Amino acid sequence: MHVTTGQAKATKYIFVTGGVSSSLGKGIISASLAKLLQARGMKVTIQKLDPYINIDPGTLNPYEHGECYVTDDGAETDLDLGHYERFLNVRTSQANNITTGRIYQSVIDKERRGEYLGRTVQVIPHITDEIKRCVQILGEGDRYDFVITEIGGTVGDIESLPYIEAVRQMRWEQPKDTLVIHLTLVPYLKAAGELKTKPTQHSVKQLLEFGVQPDILVCRTEHNLSKSIRTKLARFCNVGVEAVIQSIDAKTIYDVPLLMQQERLDEVVLNKLEVKSEAPINLNSWMNFLQRHKNPEGTVDIALVGKYVELQDSYKSIVEAFTHAGASCGVKVNLRWIHSEQVQSSELKSLFDGVHGILVAPGFGSRGIDGKIEAIRFAREEGIPFLGICLGMQCAVIEFARNVLGLEQAHSTEIKDYTPDPVIDLMEAQKGLADMGGTMRLGAYPCQLVEDSIAARAYGVENTEERHRHRYEFNDAYRDRFVEAGMIPTGTHPDSNLVEIVEIPDHPWFLGAQFHPEYKSTVESPHPLFKSFLEAALHHSGAESNSELSNRDKSQGS
Ligand code: GLN
Repeated sequence: MHVTTGQAKATKYIFVTGGVSSSLGKGIISASLAKLLQARGMKVTIQKLDPYINIDPGTLNPYEHGECYVTDDGAETDLDLGHYERFLNVRTSQANNITTGRIYQSVIDKERRGEYLGRTVQVIPHITDEIKRCVQILGEGDRYDFVITEIGGTVGDIESLPYIEAVRQMRWEQPKDTLVIHLTLVPYLKAAGELKTKPTQHSVKQLLEFGVQPDILVCRTEHNLSKSIRTKLARFCNVGVEAVIQSIDAKTIYDVPLLMQQERLDEVVLNKLEVKSEAPINLNSWMNFLQRHKNPEGTVDIALVGKYVELQDSYKSIVEAFTHAGASCGVKVNLRWIHSEQVQSSELKSLFDGVHGILVAPGFGSRGIDGKIEAIRFAREEGIPFLGICLGMQCAVIEFARNVLGLEQAHSTEIKDYTPDPVIDLMEAQKGLADMGGTMRLGAYPCQLVEDSIAARAYGVENTEERHRHRYEFNDAYRDRFVEAGMIPTGTHPDSNLVEIVEIPDHPWFLGAQFHPEYKSTVESPHPLFKSFLEAALHHSGAESNSELSNRDKSQGS
């Protein structure tokens, strides 16, 4: 369905800026608005413009920027794109995440090719034109009714100025097709017992200095905004009172679309853009998910072993994949965050006491590797369901080589340059690459599954496609020895025969995936491997409590 405006049909561009403070949740507000518009039958996409100079977050440490999210087309992107996909169940691509580095790179490349015909290349108009091009490209070809563009950073930051200027120009050039939503903070002063509007007033003034009048204010707040606060904000910030939208702290991010619907954010947007929407809003599957998410019938405890556990944003997609799969299986997933460096120095029985499944996380480099290997050994020997993702899978291979095949010094050549048994080794295609940025094996690749494996049963199909981000792989020279000893490749890349999944059929549920299943989990399509892992964990918890009960019976009987 395309929007009918009474004029020529056109894609509408909605910009979301942030004021007063960072971390107000522009990504979630953008995704929530997109969800509401999508639920009215509109085609929507969301884009993030990041004002930093890196070409993409692929080379950034997770401590700097949280998880690096990967799209089907192999773009290494901001973690907000994960929210967009999880909310909308629609794939994003490289075009959905643009950084200042990428903008400048493209302008400089054009300059070198002589495309500016001898003119001086400047921030205005060349950089701003490139920003506008990157926004408008998503509106080409009638693909979307709405393009929602989230501008990273906070208004007033020096580095985001060219973006705000590009927004000003687009508002001026396409007044009927553009709209600006400003997300701000309305803080509560405990001592005064009051919500304060002044920071929002200042932030809007700052936007006005740059020539941008926001059309809608979304106000993050810990308390309900009274009518008088709304009127005051409307008066000082030149917006209608209906365009002052409250965004009160929510228990879960998945409540935010409904909170925005209660505040009529979607209606205000449609009215302002003069878009008629006759279709009734359909949020049935979303409500269904929320209902299950909020009313679990049981709980499972999963240990998440990784080296960035102090910063949980580093594993955002994994956490959300558990939320989706948990709702689908009717259980609440309690994550126990375990630092891989802590594993070595602890007594494993007490560290993992009561967990029903162990997940070993993706990662790079040697820090915490021995702890990961120890955690896997524990899961394998104790029959605890295990899911290893990327580096987690590679560690499972190393563990098996050392402790089952007896190759004591087996390792990955990422961690140890020389090892007599490089069971994980640099991929052929990676050899000789000098650049670090964008050169990994990235994006979606097909994967062929072995009949009757855990993976094939979970997916219910023989062929799938999953997203990758790695340089190292299972070393095929060892394949036969692994198979003989009971670790089986059950998923391979059909052309190259690269091993993408390993399993131990002799274990209740043991699976390592070279790819990242978490990137493809959405509210509407929880990932089959996460679901299968949780079912196994649930089974394990049942078995555990049964054995506890029978132990108790025994001890009471004796
Ligand atoms: N560091 C490993 C590799 O490059 C694993 C990467 C990951 O876990 N994403 O192969």
